[in-house]
Parts: sequence; C-alpha cells; structure tokens
Amino acid sequence: MKMELTKGFADFINDEYLCSLIADGREDLPRCREIFSKALAKKPLTVEETAALCAITSKEGLDELFETARELKRAVYGNRIVLFAPLYIGNYCINDCKYCGFRRSLRSTVRHSLSDAEMTREIISLENEGHKRLILVYGEHPKYTPEFIAHTVKLAYSVKTGHGEIRRVNINAAPLDIEGYKVVKAAGIGTFQVFQETYHKQTYRLYHPEGSPKSDYLWRLNAMDRAFEGGIDDMGIGALFGLYDWRFEVLGLVSHAIHLQKTYGVGPHTISFPRIQPANGLDLDLPYRVSDGEFKRLVAILRIAVPYTGLIMTARENSEVRDEVIDFGVSQIDAGTKLEIGGYNKERKGDEQAMDEEQFKIGDTRSLDDVIRWLLEKDYIPSFCTSCYRVGRTGEHFMEFAIPGFIKKFCTRNALLTLAEYLEDYSSERTKDAGYALIERELSKFPDGDEKNSVIARLRRIREEGMRDMLY
Ligand code: SAM
Ligand code: SF4
Repeated sequence: MKMELTKGFADFINDEYLCSLIADGREDLPRCREIFSKALAKKPLTVEETAALCAITSKEGLDELFETARELKRAVYGNRIVLFAPLYIGNYCINDCKYCGFRRSLRSTVRHSLSDAEMTREIISLENEGHKRLILVYGEHPKYTPEFIAHTVKLAYSVKTGHGEIRRVNINAAPLDIEGYKVVKAAGIGTFQVFQETYHKQTYRLYHPEGSPKSDYLWRLNAMDRAFEGGIDDMGIGALFGLYDWRFEVLGLVSHAIHLQKTYGVGPHTISFPRIQPANGLDLDLPYRVSDGEFKRLVAILRIAVPYTGLIMTARENSEVRDEVIDFGVSQIDAGTKLEIGGYNKERKGDEQAMDEEQFKIGDTRSLDDVIRWLLEKDYIPSFCTSCYRVGRTGEHFMEFAIPGFIKKFCTRNALLTLAEYLEDYSSERTKDAGYALIERELSKFPDGDEKNSVIARLRRIREEGMRDMLY
C-alpha cells in the first residue's frame, strides 16, 4: 500500500491557462524592463511575468534579456561552474517513451546493468580523471528498486583510489513512492532528479503510451512532493525540450518551482533543460524541435525567472552551443561524459558511441581536462565543491543568492581549493598552468585580511603537504 501525500495530489499545471499566456504573447518591452529590474533586485518571477519574457523577439529586447541573465549570473552567483559526470548503472526499462534509446519496445538495444565489480571499475576511472561528483542514472525497471539504488550510492561513496573519492552522488531515476525516497535518502544522496519531460498533458500522453508506469502524468508531476514527504529537500526538475512548445515548458518549470516553494518552503535545487538528441531507433517527426536561438532564450529566461535555482546544461549540447549559452546563468555542467554502460573503461575512437547501448547521442565529447581548460580560458572557476551539503548548509542556492558575502566566504574559496586539488592530482601541464594563473587572478580580487590569508594557507598545504578536502 502506497503512503498518501499529506497535502494531497496537486495538479498545479493549468494547461489552458499556460497556453493562453503564450497565445497572448505580444512583446511589451517597457513591461519587460520592469521585470528585469525586479529580477535584478533578487525577486523570483511569477508565471505571467515569465510569459512576458517568452514573448520577446526584437533584437533590442533579446539583447537586454541576455544582458540581464548575464548580469544576474556574474553579479549574484560569481564565476564558478560546478562539474560532474553521469554514470549509467543500467538500461533495462519497462517504459516505452518514444524519444528514448532505452524504450522497452526497442529490441535492438543491448541491455545491461553494472555488477558491483564493473561499477567499482567505472568509479575508479572517473576518480582517476578527477571527478568528485556523480549522477547515477537508471532506466525504470523492477531491478532498480530503492534498495538497489541505495546500494549503488553507498558503493559509489566507498570506492577510493589515491586522492580520488566521490563526495556527492546525485540520482536520476524513476520517481519513487514515499517509502522509497526514505530508503535512498538514508544512503546519503544529494539531489534526486526527475524530469517531467513535458508539462503539456496531451503531449505527455502522446509520448508515454498507456500500459507503462510512466504514462501516469500526475504520479510523475508529484514525484518531488513525495520526495519531500520522504525527507528529501534537494530536488532537481527538468523538461525534455522538443516535445512541445518551449515556452509552455518554461512556464511549466516555473509553475513547478513556485508550487514547491509555496508548499514546502524550498524550491528545486536544480533545473535541467535537455534537448532531444538522436538515439538508437529514433525516427520521430518533432514539430517542436528547439533551435539554438530558442535554446539560448529559454536558458536566459529560466535564469531570470528562478534566481535561487541552479541550472544544469549537459553534454547533449555541443561545445559551440555550450560556449555561448554558459554565460546566461548555467551553474553546473557534466564533462568527460560517457553514456555507454561501462563506457568509462572502454576504448573508443574519437566521438564514436555504442548507440545500440546508449540512451542518446552526446554533442560534447571533450575530456574533463579539456573542458576545465576551456572554462579557465573563459575566466570561470571550475569547481568540484561539495561543501554546503556535506556540512549541512542545505538550501545553498538560496543562501548564495540572498546572503551578502556568502559566495566569497564559502563558494569561491571552496572552488579554488577543489580546483587546486584537481591541478595537483589529475591535470595536464597546460591546464595546470592555466589553473594556477586563474587562482592568482582570483586571489588578487580578495581584500587583504584573514579570509585571503586562510585560503592562501590552505592552497599551500594542498600543494606542499598533500592535504585534501579542507572545505569551508
Ligand atoms: N528512466 C528514468 C526516467 O525516465 O525518469 C531516468 C531518467 S532517463 C535515464 C534520463 C533523461 O534522459 C530522461 O528523463 C529524458 O529527459 C532524457 N532523454 C531521454 N531520451 C532522450 C533523448 N533522445 N535525447 C535527450 N535526452 C533524452
Ligand atoms: Fe525508460 Fe527513462 Fe528512457 Fe523512458 S526516458 S524509456 S523511462 S529510460
């Protein structure tokens, strides 16, 4: 018997109303300017205000939209980008999502779940690249019970090699019931991600056929409510862009964030905005495919609308798109990504992927070291920081945003320490030079005093004494 939600099932998506907001959409730049000012004063937007931003199409309006997103990102969050890697645990699936290379009706997909020994080898490889944060990914299958997920999380934390260790494990799996969330929470997970895929009910039915668990729109929509009831207050939401009008999905994501904030007092930790990629056996006519220009707009609008929430841009996007869009408020990216089950221990030539085993084609196949050097060249601090969550400062995005000096005191200093660890333990010489040059530049921005001296002292201990994990 499934436990009931104490606050009841909530359908906070009013399809007709959201459609009407989009249909009304004529650009009103004076109103948008007021909305930009509100956002820069650190206030989250309403759905109606977000819809007004979605209606911007003029060059002048778009320039101001992008500038506002850039300013919010730089002024409020600083210049850190958090890095992680996905680890696919298994691709068995009982659902039949029409866009996915794992869907059950696709007989040509080679199915496999990692054994403990295989998973250990994958984690060692990831640690040897320098990763500290993972997201474990699973299909939906009776094999992938909460107990199994909890077991894989604990295994990920337990594998250590040299200075290598995984300090944060996030999850992307099928939505659980309340008891299930309690089980994975007890294993020490970070964020639990569930993407709604599309918030538009009619479209949802189209892509998730009857007779599979995922066809239940409301069960998925309330996944995060159950997570809360199960004690998880760190949730990631997302939409798969390309199934329906991107503006509707943006309004759906914002409605979801507002619902969680209102009901539980905590908004989502992250929002993901994957675009549909080519996949094994995928031959879909997608009338709502999102162009690069629209993608850029939607990321900027999300940054402005939900200022407390981290934005994740994955390696589905190619390096050119990532290079352009990262400035509009992205806070996390994956790097050195392999989707093949067991792929971190397989040699493949260049961009080659084993498409009959993987969920979709990725756009950015650069190594972690190359991605880090690219970030450094763009004057971003690549960060492996996991501090807030480990010392119990939950809701850190809110604090980063709302508490003056928080970023400098915690985030920047932890980012620099974790970058130095990477440079000492894993980087190429080129990246090491670029990394220490950035550390010098960042240190020069600190006023003289205790905070600066403390970080300099810790950096020295990392370099000279081999100290690690000295988090603030
Ligand atoms: N199986 C679980 C589920 O569906 O909730 C876990 C997530 S699935 C392994 C990860 C995500 O990949 C999905 O939520 C979906 O948004 C995305 N995805 C699926 N097919 C895709 C494709 N062809 N291109 C890009 N992203 C895709
Ligand atoms: Fe299965 Fe998830 Fe793929 Fe749907 S998106 S077929 S649930 S792995």
